[in-house]
Amino acid sequence: MKIYHLNCGTMNPRYPRGTQSIIYCLLVEANDGLLLVDTGFGVQDYKNPSWFTKIFIASLDMPCSLEETAMYQVEKLGYARNDVKHIVMTHLHSDHSGGLRDFPDAHVHVHALEYEAIQSPKGFKERFYDAEHWAHSPNWVIHKKEETEDWFGFRNIRVLNDNSLDVRLIPLHGHTRGHCGVAIKTPEGWLLHCGDATFPFYHDHEPLPPMKPLPNYVMSPPKWLERSLVGENTPRLKELHEKHGDEIQFICSNDSITYSMQFHE
Ligand SMILES: [Zn+2]
Repeated sequence: MKIYHLNCGTMNPRYPRGTQSIIYCLLVEANDGLLLVDTGFGVQDYKNPSWFTKIFIASLDMPCSLEETAMYQVEKLGYARNDVKHIVMTHLHSDHSGGLRDFPDAHVHVHALEYEAIQSPKGFKERFYDAEHWAHSPNWVIHKKEETEDWFGFRNIRVLNDNSLDVRLIPLHGHTRGHCGVAIKTPEGWLLHCGDATFPFYHDHEPLPPMKPLPNYVMSPPKWLERSLVGENTPRLKELHEKHGDEIQFICSNDSITYSMQFHE
């Protein structure tokens, strides 16, 4: 089993200048092909961006490099794009879902509440969906039934009925209605992609060069910003990290720290 850590979009905030963030995606080799966790922006977002994507890209001074798309990185690793059989989404905000169009044959796994949210977005945070990203009618796999079985005290949904790969949606709602973490069982333990449900609280240092520092509002957001942006899951995740940090590796969408460490191993 091999897991590739991908940066599918570098963000260089205009304030404060000199800081940097990423869109963190994972590519997992499974028995019958590849599984992707989130997609970042896709080829069409850079070639033919919607007005919303244009604003997003401009405000974060993104390089819009096709080399940062998941599709390019999959092909660079020697795979074909239709080797990606499953895409598991933490949520469907536009900076996570643009690449869906680059893998039109993949099964796209989402929590039922997230699917509901894109049909009828409500409130500020649910404005950041871009319906163009699913205008091609993906092969949605909409997950509703939550397992009663515990995953370290969290409810969870087993995504694949494949004994070779244990991947679960962990409901961490709040950032969006159906936002989930994605847990992947690895030979060493578990890898938990927390999406936008938290910030890299589990690190006490900056990203390693050449990555630039994360903005303070990502690294240690004030409580009001944390509640309004990422939701209310961080205390539970901190407790999980305290109790089981040796069994679970945490990452989240803007965690350029973990991402930077792979180049220094
Ligand atoms: Zn988001």
